Amino acid sequence: MSGLRPVAAVIGSPVAHSLSPVLHRAGFASVGLDWSYVAFEVAEGCAAEAIAAMKVLGIGGLSVTMPHKEAVADAVDELDPAAMALRSVNTVVPMGDGRVKGYSTDGAGFVASLAEQGVSVAGLSICVLGAGGAARAIVDAVACAGARRIAVVNRTPERAASAASLAGNVGVVGDASDISGADIVVNATSVGMGDVAAVPCDVGLLHAGQVVADIVYHPRRTGLGLAAAAAGAKVIDGLGMLVHQAVEQQVLFTGMRPDAAAMWAAAEQALAARR
Ligand code: NAP
Repeated sequence: MSGLRPVAAVIGSPVAHSLSPVLHRAGFASVGLDWSYVAFEVAEGCAAEAIAAMKVLGIGGLSVTMPHKEAVADAVDELDPAAMALRSVNTVVPMGDGRVKGYSTDGAGFVASLAEQGVSVAGLSICVLGAGGAARAIVDAVACAGARRIAVVNRTPERAASAASLAGNVGVVGDASDISGADIVVNATSVGMGDVAAVPCDVGLLHAGQVVADIVYHPRRTGLGLAAAAAGAKVIDGLGMLVHQAVEQQVLFTGMRPDAAAMWAAAEQALAARR
């Protein structure tokens, strides 16, 4: 690696199929920045060593993916408020004094992906399926963006209660009636990943007038998305969240906002090449 060219990176395991290098390289190019971006396979349990290496190597920005988001939250020197509430970090940035700060851009990326499709969550009722890391980030972000009611429906009820509590007094543990009653239904479970036949809820509860957002993006149109479209709902797939969480990461890395359209195009091209 050049000592002159700034370097950013992603850590994860497995990381080989991460779209982060494609997204970030397109983003840097879109604003004329000569940054490089590389992927590091980092075994589970080695997140603290990776953060120490980031400091020693002078890496200018780090993306963090599975399974390191919680461990990195413990390894950084400082957390921004969203990452602190979630105890989860997907972005690490040097503070200029040898220390590094952790952020979570997943929730902001989700809200931005809806906004890009003309959907504002302010004043709306949201039903979030799932209570894992991504669901928690989404609950926190839609609460901050002014959602009126946020119902969390999850296979393990105790985790639903913990996720719902992130939304304060607008968060509740939900049931099937919250799926049919919501303005926006979000699949933040891993159900449907790689399997178009798997759906995270009774699709008979979906109807016209709703927005159904599935953060799973492989396949691009999931079983839930297909059923929601057939029911007349507006469907938003998960690639937009991936693009926009990377946009927000790059703003934190460089202080410059990259062109989301260029990053979208690079992601679409990379996915098409994999088919
Ligand atoms: P996670 O922390 O492991 O959470 C997984 C969630 O899915 C939990 O709520 C779990 O329920 C639920 N679940 C798993 N299998 C299930 C099943 N068979 N039936 C019902 N519920 C089930 O994972 P995560 O990090 O939140 O990620 C969730 C999904 O979002 C993944 O597919 C990931 O790739 C995707 N994602 C997308 C983006 C994006 O940018 N588009 C960003 C982040 C994540 P329990 O609590 O009961 O175990």
